[in-house]
Amino acid sequence: MPNPPSETLLRQLAESLGPRGFSRAPEDLKPWLTDWRGRWHGRTAALLSPETPEQVQAIVTQCAAERVAIVPQGGNTSMVGGATPSAEGNSFLLSLRRMRRIREISASDNMLVAEAGLILADVHEAAEGIGRRFPLSLAAKGSATVGGLVSTNAGGTQVLRFGTMRALVLGLEAVLPDGSLYHGLSGLRKDNRGYDLRQMLIGAEGTLGIVTAASLRLVAAVGSRAVAWTGLASPDDALRLLRHLEGRLGDRVESFELIPSNALELVIAHIPGTRAPLAQAHAWHALVEVTAPAGEAGAEHSLAAALADSLDRNLAADATIAANEAQAQALWRLRESIAEAERKQGASLKHDIAVPVSAMPGFLVSARKAVEGLYPGCRIIAFGHLGDGNVHFNVQPPADACSESWLSRPGGDVSDLIYDLVTAAGGSISAEHGIGQMKADALARTADPALLFAQRAIKAALDPAGIMNPGKIFPG
Ligand SMILES: Cc1cc2nc3c(=O)[nH]c(=O)nc-3n(C[C@H](O)[C@H](O)[C@H](O)COP(=O)(O)OP(=O)(O)OC[C@H]3O[C@@H](n4cnc5c(N)ncnc54)[C@H](O)[C@@H]3O)c2cc1C
Repeated sequence: MPNPPSETLLRQLAESLGPRGFSRAPEDLKPWLTDWRGRWHGRTAALLSPETPEQVQAIVTQCAAERVAIVPQGGNTSMVGGATPSAEGNSFLLSLRRMRRIREISASDNMLVAEAGLILADVHEAAEGIGRRFPLSLAAKGSATVGGLVSTNAGGTQVLRFGTMRALVLGLEAVLPDGSLYHGLSGLRKDNRGYDLRQMLIGAEGTLGIVTAASLRLVAAVGSRAVAWTGLASPDDALRLLRHLEGRLGDRVESFELIPSNALELVIAHIPGTRAPLAQAHAWHALVEVTAPAGEAGAEHSLAAALADSLDRNLAADATIAANEAQAQALWRLRESIAEAERKQGASLKHDIAVPVSAMPGFLVSARKAVEGLYPGCRIIAFGHLGDGNVHFNVQPPADACSESWLSRPGGDVSDLIYDLVTAAGGSISAEHGIGQMKADALARTADPALLFAQRAIKAALDPAGIMNPGKIFPG
């Protein structure tokens, strides 16, 4: 069990980090003690904002000596309460946001070395500056940081082609729980020196150490891109459409996002300036993005031909292709605003789940039936990355229920039911958001015992005092 920090430790940290790096002022702390969804609220002994890996190392070394807990935080966009400290207030909140330098960027190595606090949108911009791109994007790109993306093994809207962060992180620098600095930034394409510490730290949610920098894989810039919005009768049709488009266009299909009509309605109701892209209403929609390399036929031409063929084969009911960049962005805005629109609508139960891709259409039908049958009146908004077998199966309380009390009961039972259905389907209770504090009990209940054994053994070996982000992944 971690200890509260001593007065001596607080004084030493205040002196070594200076006023910009150490604060106990309530107004400095407040924005970072509640998560993006507004569901978890914590307290902290102090907000620490180091500027260098050496400062992070000094903090961790001193905390290890006193067994004081540390909660790492990047952009604070976690969907599972991963970066929110517990309510008892004895841990330090360690913000990486001041560490945002680009240490190196190389077109010949197709690599960018960024510090943990660099924001994803800035990674995109830097890559574009040298004629490359970093192929991972998500709606929180204006806030989410490299350290957070690494530590959650973030996914997003281009996993279909490029994979999650696991496929995009070439190297890491990190401070381990004993204060040692792991120098693993070299970005070797091949490296078989035993266990892969980089992959262990990716997705560790700050429970095995603090990521201070990452080497990220860049890919060639696109020559052109085309974005389309399609109207569909069912998720089954959506999957058939995806496979048809892939058959015609191969891995030029970079994004395929499934959006039900109730998600679109929610966005139009809550997000100013949005409107339905198609004249008729459809039960389901897919947002498709296709790219083409420089020097090859334009993406718009190939997507238009493939979609025309899909309409002829009744794989889609209707479709529109963005005529310019502004229209493309407007279509993406509809997709990327769903989480914000849900937040404006009120609290909901979020389930970021995965099942085998081919099982997803059937799962959407059977899970909806099971939840609505047992808990009449609740509203299910299931959307997301169909091609990855990952949807956000979110449940809003019935209109006549007091939402806060419903979320704890029967909300907890609703989530258990969904996780049981996912597990029975051979799926995962966390596809891309991580476990955080929200799913720690559910993981312990549903995971393969051999996996839990190995995860607990790794945690105990690297962090025997349990100071790194306690209560996350493993129940507190
Ligand atoms: C509107 C919206 C849309 C989203 N869409 C997606 C999506 O499509 N795909 C997806 O995968 N996620 C998505 N997310 C979730 C979130 O953006 C990601 O989990 C992101 O990777 C978190 O980055 P962050 O910098 O905000 O991390 P934080 O929220 O600050 O932290 C997340 C976790 O990482 C740990 N951590 C942070 N920095 C470090 C570090 N330097 N070292 C060690 N541990 C660290 C924290 O302790 C915490 O456990 C979305 C969130 C929002 C709000």
